[in-house]
Amino acid sequence: CPLEKKAKGKLQKQICQVVLDHFEKQYTAELGDAWSSVRDVLTSPWCWQYAVLLNRFSQSPGLESSLAEQGYHPAFPAALPYLPAAFRCYTRAAPGRFPAQKHQPGRLKEYYLLNAASLLPVLALEVKDGEDILDLCAAPGGKSVAILQCACPGHFHCNEYDDLRSRWLEQTIESFIPDPFINLVTVSKLDGRQIGDLQPEFYDKVLVDAPCSNDRSWLFSADPQQAVLRLMQRKELSSLQFQLLRSAVQALRPGGSLVYSTCTLSRAENSDVISLILSSCSNVMPVDISGMARGVSQEFTLLSGMQQHELLVLPEKGRAWGPMYVAKLKKVS
Ligand code: SAM
Repeated sequence: CPLEKKAKGKLQKQICQVVLDHFEKQYTAELGDAWSSVRDVLTSPWCWQYAVLLNRFSQSPGLESSLAEQGYHPAFPAALPYLPAAFRCYTRAAPGRFPAQKHQPGRLKEYYLLNAASLLPVLALEVKDGEDILDLCAAPGGKSVAILQCACPGHFHCNEYDDLRSRWLEQTIESFIPDPFINLVTVSKLDGRQIGDLQPEFYDKVLVDAPCSNDRSWLFSADPQQAVLRLMQRKELSSLQFQLLRSAVQALRPGGSLVYSTCTLSRAENSDVISLILSSCSNVMPVDISGMARGVSQEFTLLSGMQQHELLVLPEKGRAWGPMYVAKLKKVS
């Protein structure tokens, strides 16, 4: 197809070789044979798929039939015991995006386009009505919107450190959440590392969707010099992630739980950070999410050999979701 050829030509040029070489070395060592098929998806944007998360607060009657006409079907098996009835997400095997909706002040959007694997951390959090919830690193707000599709929290604190991204987060919340519910939501611009000290033992659930090496977007870095700098500073991310997690533990009530997620394959930013928090906080225990992993294994390709409290989604052709690492922990005292 000439259009695909043109898109390939255009997008192929933009792959940043220095990043690809770096990933090639690291991920061959960490993932073995699985890396080559993951690499094929990550470097072929014309294969990428997008899920459509419906907004339970605003629905036009024709939306679901128009999704069905374009080959979309409901995602996530009903077998997931804690899948809330109001939570509706559509996916299709074919690549491409459903048309995005523009922000219009005063008008709610009907759906949010995202990588379906981004919903797994939210589902793992198992939010319930009335719970106090913190989304520690929230912009642009995809997971915050998803959390509000699952339940009606007592209080929902969405935090984002970066000024510009925090405004983007506010806009997302305004675009998806109507008046009475929006009063439950607070948006702040704090360094997430300080929230544990500022609000100790305040939350039932905390989502730490951490800043990380974003494998998908880093591969298309436009500026190779900036890419080299990022790769050099990559080690510092693990330390930031650990500090954010420690703050999240502090912010949790005893008995509360947290989900940690990243969109990188890097072990240093995933399992290693979780192992470090487990070995340094005696009041934190791993939570078994293997049931959820089994429940979604038809729709997502998961790395085998992970521990019961974690999963890693590997992008594959036709199931181009991820990378997404998810781990769940509980504060016991
Ligand atoms: N959860 C978001 C979503 O689903 O739309 C994506 C979050 S993104 C992976 C990580 C975010 O953490 C970025 O927006 C980044 O600006 C923010 N961040 C970086 N350092 C932070 C810090 N110290 N405290 C809070 N947020 C931080």
